[in-house]
Amino acid sequence: MKKIAVIGAGIVGITTAFELASTGNSVTVFDHNSAAAEEASFANGCVFSPGFVTPWVAPGLPKALLGKLFREHSPVRIGGLGAKELSWISKWRAACKMDSYLVHRSQLHNLASFSNEVFKDITGKLNLEYENSKGFMVLYRSPEEQKNAQRMLQTYNEMGVPLLEISAEKARIIEPALNLETQINGGLYFPEDGIANCRQFALLLKDECEKMGVRFEFNSAVKPLSAAQPTLIQTHNGQIKFDAVVVCAGVSSAEILAPIGIKVPLLPIYGYSLSAALRESIDAPLSGVFDDRHKVTISRIGQRIRVSGIVQIGGAPKTHISGAFNTLYKVLNDWFPGAARTSENVQEWKGARAMLPEGIPLIGACKVPGVWLNIGHGSSGWTLSCGAARALSNLIDGRLPGTNLIGFGMSRLE
Ligand SMILES: Cc1cc2nc3c(=O)[nH]c(=O)nc-3n(C[C@H](O)[C@H](O)[C@H](O)COP(=O)(O)OP(=O)(O)OC[C@H]3O[C@@H](n4cnc5c(N)ncnc54)[C@H](O)[C@@H]3O)c2cc1C
Repeated sequence: MKKIAVIGAGIVGITTAFELASTGNSVTVFDHNSAAAEEASFANGCVFSPGFVTPWVAPGLPKALLGKLFREHSPVRIGGLGAKELSWISKWRAACKMDSYLVHRSQLHNLASFSNEVFKDITGKLNLEYENSKGFMVLYRSPEEQKNAQRMLQTYNEMGVPLLEISAEKARIIEPALNLETQINGGLYFPEDGIANCRQFALLLKDECEKMGVRFEFNSAVKPLSAAQPTLIQTHNGQIKFDAVVVCAGVSSAEILAPIGIKVPLLPIYGYSLSAALRESIDAPLSGVFDDRHKVTISRIGQRIRVSGIVQIGGAPKTHISGAFNTLYKVLNDWFPGAARTSENVQEWKGARAMLPEGIPLIGACKVPGVWLNIGHGSSGWTLSCGAARALSNLIDGRLPGTNLIGFGMSRLE
């Protein structure tokens, strides 16, 4: 049994604490917020789609995004470009090559499939009740969009992803409320994937952690680790020595690791969501729909609709970039007009995806003994969280990870 500190009570920190406590470790979770899942894990798209998970480093992506940058409802926005952003973009562009993309995609897919198994194992054993729905659909508005996607179909098939290519008619049968006035050229349907409420799951799992004796220290900002004693956790309440420290601090992980000589090129890639009460169930999606043109997801979360998207590079965490929410309202209205009460009590939210240039997370040991990483899950952290947590916890306990973690280690940055 080890005495372990987990820094961060987002979905990644909570799943990690759960796994570590399940094998008998003594775990304390630190978070600077007053509750769990208050940052990136708060109001994300809630898409749990192991099949659709992909690193954002496809060949041709930089050109395609640049071409859309100045359009009114562009999926990508620039909030400001400093040295940090430019350096990250240059590394990201270098990663947008077919060979590395295919490798990273397959690595991510393996992890996502493992995560799905672990997720089912946890929810089954604990009987957790959380908002969820089955099925995830990607919609293409034009023949060109569909043609672009078809290039990737072979990869999906090679990886054994359960999916169906669907016609507009079939899409409208699966999601009967889709607006007849918005053109559909075709789509992909992932019948085994779906929507699951990330924050709700995180809070339920936190309760389970507490039942196993995990301590949660909220309102406790952990200071950057010290080179002299890397496993000493220091907060304004004092300091505690641990056998091991697991960094799960989302976008803040880089500054926590910097003093011990670990440099990770993490960039916050901001995104937005709006959540509104269901107005008419008959006008609403049954599960999740992704608009490929605008890269926006519309999810049914219990009695609410959540619309999520936008990739914002640079800018301040709390400042909303002009037009971001307009795009989300527009896409909702394009596909499901009348589904949500958008005139009152809409929760508008901005969060940060902690993104590494290769688009896949870092999971494992770092060169400093006792310090472990579970960071950089980017746009799919919810889907990957359970698998990343179990694999890392296996490593910390001295076992094999349970899935292939080649490519997720620090060595790729060296
Ligand atoms: C708009 C948007 C939509 C998304 N949609 C999806 C989706 O549909 N499906 C999906 O799979 N993923 C999605 N994601 C990604 C997913 O939300 C994230 O990858 C995931 O939530 C990351 O979890 P985390 O625990 O690593 O980070 P966080 O949830 O950000 O948790 C990090 C925690 O660390 C704490 N912390 C930071 N610094 C310190 C410190 N010094 N001391 C103490 N505590 C600290 C923070 O308070 C925070 O609670 C989306 C993200 C965004 C922004």
